[in-house]
Amino acid sequence: MKNVLVVGAGGVGSAVAHKCAQNNDVLGDICIASRTVAKCERIVREIDERGNRKDPSAKLHAVPIDAMDDSAMTELIKDTNSSVVINVGSPFCNLSIMEACLRTGAHYLDTAVHEVEGRINEPAPWYANYEWKQRERFEAAKVTGILGIGFDPGAVNAFCAYVRKHLVPDIETIDIMDVNAGDHGRYFATNFDPETNLREIMEDVLYWENGEWVSIPCHSKSRTYDFPEVGTHRVFSMGHDELHSLAVNIPAKRIEFWMAFGEQYLTVFNVLHRLGLLSLDPVDVEGREVMPIKVVKAVLPEPASLASGYTGKTCIGCLVNGTRDGRSREVFIYNVCDHAACYAEIGSQAISYTTAVPAVTAARLIVEGQWNVGRLVNVEELDPDPFMALMPKLGLSWEVRES
Ligand code: NDP
Repeated sequence: MKNVLVVGAGGVGSAVAHKCAQNNDVLGDICIASRTVAKCERIVREIDERGNRKDPSAKLHAVPIDAMDDSAMTELIKDTNSSVVINVGSPFCNLSIMEACLRTGAHYLDTAVHEVEGRINEPAPWYANYEWKQRERFEAAKVTGILGIGFDPGAVNAFCAYVRKHLVPDIETIDIMDVNAGDHGRYFATNFDPETNLREIMEDVLYWENGEWVSIPCHSKSRTYDFPEVGTHRVFSMGHDELHSLAVNIPAKRIEFWMAFGEQYLTVFNVLHRLGLLSLDPVDVEGREVMPIKVVKAVLPEPASLASGYTGKTCIGCLVNGTRDGRSREVFIYNVCDHAACYAEIGSQAISYTTAVPAVTAARLIVEGQWNVGRLVNVEELDPDPFMALMPKLGLSWEVRES
């Protein structure tokens, strides 16, 4: 059981493809498929220029695909004889790619919850609106689907499961903390797909407290935290995918997600927002219907283009409070990743790199059997131990700081 189909050729798709190629002795042939085939072809060239194809005899190739078309996706999985599909295209494509996996028996991985064009502020938990409705079908077909296996969501969910299993069995609070202390030198840019990123920030913030979802306006609640290696940063409470499975799978009084934003980012974001340039409601531009957020996406730098010259580090982790054997315990479990080191290795910035490594780690664990569970799961439902052991070998270490 081998061969991987990577869908999406943006910043994350490129990093996933490099990491798959570095592990192609286990993963087999790698096909990179996306809307713009020239981007896939460029990734194939770059992998070979950097010598990142471990087994030169395994096939590495590029094809065009519209991943919204489930029939075309089904044919592509069959043509490439893929046993695992890593969906790192747009979150609008999750359901069509899942459908194609169910038809062909290929295992499914993604890194972001499904979204529908023109809709935000969907009811919580978000996974219940689309993905979890497919659980019975995955189980009947014995197909493994792992939802949200990037870094956050993804590695942080495994961190929570690991902490619960080994360090703090009775968890009271989980704070997922995300700071990008890097500098890409651009006036304003998003580190991953601008449309997904800006939609995420515009939504009302939902977090989990005392058995219910609490809603607050975006950027209305902040705190400071002293992160390992990157120092003290102001982080804001934000709505985020992983809360919508952790709240269901891990009993805790409060589960919240925090992300750091610089002053300049917030200023530009607020201006765009107040002008209506982030709106999902189409406007008439000289007789053509245009969604303002699509225009902003079109003029912003592509996330992959930020990688060259990016300096500084990211620090992402989980601050977990609770008790063990009746005694209070607080741990921060985290990864620190250096933008320039990622670029030197695979030509990516750290956000793409930290998303890709957990996804490819999971692909290997499916192919090797430890995570081939034959059902649709979120990461914290799986045994964290094989993941925590393998991820550092693929490029991302982790540490625990005890308070
Ligand atoms: P990019 O915008 O750089 O790339 C997206 C890619 O998907 C592009 O190549 C795009 O094609 C392709 N694509 C979009 N729609 C389709 C379609 N219908 N059919 C085929 N291909 C399509 O985004 P990123 O690489 O930065 O992010 C990719 C995903 O990773 C996003 O879903 C994002 O939310 C997720 N992510 C998850 C993180 C995590 O930690 N969990 C962190 C960061 C990102 P084209 O080039 O033609 O536009």
